[in-house]
Parts: sequence; C-alpha cells; structure tokens
Amino acid sequence: MMQAFISQQIVTPSAIRPGAVLVDDGRITGICNEVEIPPGHRRIDHPGALLPGLVDSHIHINEPGRTEWEGFATATRAAAAGGYTTLIDMPLNCSPATTAVAALEAKRAASQGKCLVDWAAWGGVSNHNAEDLEPLAHAGVRGFKCFLAEPGIDSFSRVNEAELRTALPHLARTGLPLLVHAELPEPLDRAARNLTGADWRRYETWLRSRPDDAEVEAIRLMIRLCREFNFHLHIVHLATAQALDDLRQARTEGLPVTVETCPHYLHFAAEEIPDGSTLHKCAPPIRSAENREQLWEALRDGAIDLIATDHSPCSPNMKRIEEGNFATAWGGISSVSVALPVVWTAMRQRGFSLCDLARLMSQQPAQLAGLTGKKGQIAEGYDADFAVFDPDAKIIVTKEQLHTRHQISPYLGERLYGTVIATYLRGVPVLTEGQFAESAPGREIPA
Ligand SMILES: [Zn+2]
Repeated sequence: MMQAFISQQIVTPSAIRPGAVLVDDGRITGICNEVEIPPGHRRIDHPGALLPGLVDSHIHINEPGRTEWEGFATATRAAAAGGYTTLIDMPLNCSPATTAVAALEAKRAASQGKCLVDWAAWGGVSNHNAEDLEPLAHAGVRGFKCFLAEPGIDSFSRVNEAELRTALPHLARTGLPLLVHAELPEPLDRAARNLTGADWRRYETWLRSRPDDAEVEAIRLMIRLCREFNFHLHIVHLATAQALDDLRQARTEGLPVTVETCPHYLHFAAEEIPDGSTLHKCAPPIRSAENREQLWEALRDGAIDLIATDHSPCSPNMKRIEEGNFATAWGGISSVSVALPVVWTAMRQRGFSLCDLARLMSQQPAQLAGLTGKKGQIAEGYDADFAVFDPDAKIIVTKEQLHTRHQISPYLGERLYGTVIATYLRGVPVLTEGQFAESAPGREIPA
C-alpha cells in the first residue's frame, strides 16, 4: 500500500518543512511538496507535527517473570500512547535475566502476539557470563548492560573491575556497546556510614546516600577501561553534572564514549521533591535544580547524546507510598507514556526545537542500538514510524493518560505542553485519536 503523510511540520534531521512523506509498504520512499504527491497514494492528513517515532533505548518491560510489574502488552501500549515506536528492553527485572541465549529466547517467546510497537533486546553482563556474550551477540542483542553498583534484584549481579576485565575482551570482539550503570559501591558505602540514624522519609537522606562521587568515580573507571579495551562505552542515566568534564575530555581524546540522561533528571529538582514522595525514587537520584540546568547545557553542546526514559515500573505496593520510606521503596520511575511532553515542555522553555527533540529522543537512541538506516529518522529507506504531535496543546497528566499496567507516576498532575495525536508503526496506525489498534503489529527488529 502506498501512503502520503501530510504535515505542515515534517521533522527531518536537518529541518522542519511542510509537505508529504511518501510511504510504500511501510517504508519511507521520499519527501515532496503536497502538490507533487504521485498518483496512487492514500492521503493521511492529521493536524500536528510529524516526528519520527521515538526510540527508547532504556526501558524495563519486565516480561517474562515480572509481568505483574509491566509486560509487553502494557509497555508497548504505553509506548504507542507516548509516540514511541521502538523499545530496546533492558536485560534485568525480567526473569530470567537476559544473560544467556536461552533467556533471550524465553523473552522472544513471551513477546509473541502482544506488541503494539517494535522492540529489541539488550543483553546483560553479570559476574559469571563472559563466555555468553558472543553467543548473545550472534543471537541478536543490540549491545550489553552492566551494573557497577548492586541492581537490587535477584538473578542479576553487579560486576567489579576484575570481572569486567574478564568480560571486556569478549565484549570488544562483538563490536557492540556496553551500557553501564555508573555508580561505584565504595562511595555508596562511605555515604551509608554517615547516615546512621538518618530519617529515611526525607528526600535529602536518599540524595545523600547516592552522592555525585559514586557516579564520577565509576565514570572515571569506565573511561580508563574504555581506553584500555577499546569498546563503545555508553553511560546510562547520567544524573550528575560533575562527571561532564571527564566525559568531554574522553571525547576530545577520541574515545568511543556516549552518554544518556533521562526525563526525570531534566524535569524535577531535588529541592522540589516532597519528603515521603517515593514515586520520585530512582538511582542515581534526581539532583539539584542547578545540576539540572548543567545537564541541559550538556544536551545543547553535545556532551550528552540522547534522552532515554529508564521507564522502570513495579507493583504499587513496592513504592511504599503510605509509608514514604526511601530506604525500603523500590527505585524506578514510570514515564514512557509522558516522556515526550515532559521533555518538550522543558525544551520549549530553553529554546530547543523539534529537530533537537527528534535527534535526542529518536535518531541518537536508534544509533546507539545499531538501528541507523531503519529507525530514528524521517528519511528515505527508513521505516514509516511516526508520532503525530501537537506541540502547543496544554495538558495536565492524569492516570488515564498513562496506559501502563499500574497508574502510578510522579508526573501525575504536571502541567505540560504537547500531545500525541497518532502513532504509526511501519505505516500502520497503532494509536489514533485515543484508540489503540486491535492487532499487535509490533515485532522484534531483525538483526
Ligand atoms: Zn534502567
């Protein structure tokens, strides 16, 4: 089927232009002026900007094994509602963790017939699976994730430097990126020793328990290992601006280092988080307003490459909302359905354009996952994945807009700009005017 998607604001990597995006059999064949649409194309004309479907390179779908937290059906529905058309699933919180090929196969089986959008998998590097990395790469993972601090979940262990030194030669041979949760245990332990008797209902206690140093020291270790083993190092969910100088320096040196941050670090600020509000708990933690502005500057100058959600839901009781205890609440923020208006609202205030948004939330995450040429841009040859977005609509976030398994999120009640009018996956509408497709056209992206 041939389609022509008409918009006054087609967001391409280089410019925003009016016209029509031509699509044949789910793939973009060109962009032209509206009067030049060749015969035989079905016209699709929504009001709003036409963005490339967003790509989330950091999401926890949690299936198989913890589908009561989220799962493929609800995660991909929430993604479609949020303008995302591609999700790269983290190797943990699902069970089994994706640290061997059999676990990847179990995830594939669990996804069958449930997905509204496309997905792919990251593999995991734990303290015992160096020999599994190359088989996982051959089986189709897009890269690997490891933790330097305890991930706080069974069946996925952190790695220390010695264990990394065993794994890195295998990883480097795959040519795939290593995504690192960069907090080191020693600075966290030092912080914990100073917190005996602290009030864990206070946000400040949580913040002090995860100091900037833990991130900075971890990033310095990883940069040293990157220099030595020559692999693509990607720092996930950077929260501290204090590591930016080291990261800029590594780039100047020519090391293959990329960096992401997340909507919650760009939207919230520690000073404004109420005590007891465990919905805001994540690690590393949301830091000061001043730190937040430095992250924005790094997005502006390219020191941070991309924005990924780190959507990490759990059952509501695990957030200990009544109790408000930051020590015992599960860490993780649910955001995939609202990340687009959250980030766009902050971008408007700071003079960023929809081109910047498309680069940071679609093009660069696709590149990290090795999907350039397929996903992340409105350009010839790419999949016809689109988010039709009204950038001027004013919204207040309600439970009905979340579409996740559990309707809890720190964004409830936030006043934002922007709403997703429709989402298309390879030319197929998966969300139009609040209605989801009844079919499940999403699939794992072939290697
Ligand atoms: Zn995560």
